[in-house]
Amino acid sequence: MPPQKTAALGDIVEVYCTRCRLNLDANVAAVLNGDILKVHCRTCGNFVPFKPPVDMQKKKDDALKKLLALQEKKRKGAAKVVTAQPDTPVARNRWADLTEAIDSRSARPYDRHRSFKVGDFVLHKGKGIGYVESCDPGGGTMVVLFKDGLEQLTQNEPRQED
Ligand SMILES: [Zn+2]
Repeated sequence: MPPQKTAALGDIVEVYCTRCRLNLDANVAAVLNGDILKVHCRTCGNFVPFKPPVDMQKKKDDALKKLLALQEKKRKGAAKVVTAQPDTPVARNRWADLTEAIDSRSARPYDRHRSFKVGDFVLHKGKGIGYVESCDPGGGTMVVLFKDGLEQLTQNEPRQED
């Protein structure tokens, strides 16, 4: 009677499949001196080197930690961009003050072909309501204060140029 631990070809064992990246059932595909060398993953059908099942919770936690660290890094990167615009908090207060008094019906939908003047309120599809702070003397662009800050937009663009 063979000892319990000896693996035989075709035995079903739990392994960590390097292809599926999961703990899965696999058939023993190669054995040397009772040690499993290769297994045949029953899920992906690949022959993969035998790896004992791993602690999936720990693996998940590690992956999550990595992800959080990455997000933190990104967040700090974004914060840096904001601090590069020292007027942003001021601009936001100003935006709030300006837009509080009006409702969106008095704003005109933004259209690059339309012309706007200082003091107009524009309604931008992506940015919401904005206040025209200044216009380029040439009339081609204007600077609009949105909730997220100042934005230069095109205006007065000739239609046939599209
Ligand atoms: Zn697999």
